[in-house]
Amino acid sequence: MSTATAPQGGAAAAAPQPAAIRVYNTLSKTKEPLEPIRPGQIGMYLCGPTVYAESHIGHMVGPVIFDTIKRFLRYSGYQVTWVVNITDVDDKLIAKSRERKIPMGQIAIEMTADYLANLRELGVNQIDHLPRATDHMGEIIEFIRTLIEKGFAYEVDGDVFFEVAKDPDYGQLSNRTLESMLGDGGEAAGKKRASGDFALWKSARPEEPAWASPWGPGRPGWHIECSAMSHAILGETFDIHGGGLDLMFPHHENERAQSGCCHGAPMVKYWMHNGLMRAGEKGKVGGKSDRQAESDDVAGKISRSRGAGGLSQLIRRHTGERIRFFLLRTHYRSTIVYGEEGLEESGAALAAFYRFFERFAEVTGQSFYDLPAPAHRAEGSFDPAGEGVLVEAAGLRDKFLAAMDDDFNTALAISTLFDLLRAANRHLDQQGLGIGADRETPAVRTLYRLAGVLRDLTSVLGLFRQPPPDQPGRQADQGLTDGLMELLISLRKEARAQKDFATGDRIRDRLAELGVLLLDKKEGTFWERKP
Ligand SMILES: [Zn+2]
Repeated sequence: MSTATAPQGGAAAAAPQPAAIRVYNTLSKTKEPLEPIRPGQIGMYLCGPTVYAESHIGHMVGPVIFDTIKRFLRYSGYQVTWVVNITDVDDKLIAKSRERKIPMGQIAIEMTADYLANLRELGVNQIDHLPRATDHMGEIIEFIRTLIEKGFAYEVDGDVFFEVAKDPDYGQLSNRTLESMLGDGGEAAGKKRASGDFALWKSARPEEPAWASPWGPGRPGWHIECSAMSHAILGETFDIHGGGLDLMFPHHENERAQSGCCHGAPMVKYWMHNGLMRAGEKGKVGGKSDRQAESDDVAGKISRSRGAGGLSQLIRRHTGERIRFFLLRTHYRSTIVYGEEGLEESGAALAAFYRFFERFAEVTGQSFYDLPAPAHRAEGSFDPAGEGVLVEAAGLRDKFLAAMDDDFNTALAISTLFDLLRAANRHLDQQGLGIGADRETPAVRTLYRLAGVLRDLTSVLGLFRQPPPDQPGRQADQGLTDGLMELLISLRKEARAQKDFATGDRIRDRLAELGVLLLDKKEGTFWERKP
């Protein structure tokens, strides 16, 4: 809270009060106050990708949301450990390995690299652990063994199943009755005690990758991987488990059953589910009609099978920043309507911010990107000292923080950024600030403050980490450099023509000190930056 609206408390406050963050918990279906299990510390787990093919934009929704949530939690004073798992053994990987005639491990390595490169482009850099299932086989097997010992799982001919009837809480998360969850039992129906039971361990078929286990060679089911890896890194009970709505059942329901039964303690305090993405423009992504997609987020979500591939191409066309901004403009629990139009709109919105950054640089001679970003919310707080535009900015900052406190409402938070931008541009216009303005005036100090608030809040969202490659300001800088180099080279040429070799050498040597090499060729003098 900025000092603009902070109550002037009489009692001396020893330590800053923790922010009143509220989180929508899928389990309770209400917003609950965020109260970590260990004060000040938060463990957070997000179900990651199965790395059998290149990622598409739908895979980026969870990572961008939880990267932003982690940034905001850190900013609010919490120490956060964030885990995203990599599923590198799975039916789809085995099928792909046969199709491409290369080992499963090689496909996993390639596709993990693709996934990580895309995360980097979108500014997702807050992940602390990226455990791979194949690196945790020991823990997975141990977990299954405990479940059998405690009577929650049973082995049949090298397969191990979890017996859902043994868990009285089964179905609570996804709010389903046992009858509605039964299904037909799938391939292994004949071996199961009940059709709703699910596989913890699958015996190996010929020529499938396999690991030794007490039940013979085989590989783990998908659900148990997440239970074992989250336990290995975050412990028996941790704070936040995230994932797309489509994972709530059966994946999260099963994770919860396995972990809860294995440890006799709840797995997770807050279950958070993000909305999915669906195609907003007919024929752009998939074959389903819009109405059908609207009626069923899960069916309408963007997936590989609906042809939404080519994320790296999309990034090249739109930039990672634009895609991140686009994803954050929708509240995380809502469906994101994906289409070129939305991305173009986000591009135009970002351009308005870039233009302000250029104006700021023109007036101050300083890059917006070099302004310090406060690490904690208290650091960004300031006294507007009754100045109109600063009072407005402080109020907008409070509004931004309140939106983020209220279940991470990035959509509302971003709308306050636009209000801030308008206020800052109005200030520039009204004060007639432009190139060559006197930098020591109060109006410029106010401009710094306004830009500082933008820097503070946008960095919470992971935006504007670096100048975009195609920013006009950058091109202008390059043009200026080229012009200055041309001038220096011609001055040196003139000096040498007049036998003033000392001046010629001084220009060459000074440039060399600055890391610029002059190359005298037959066709003339060229320059390059030293590597
Ligand atoms: Zn999972």
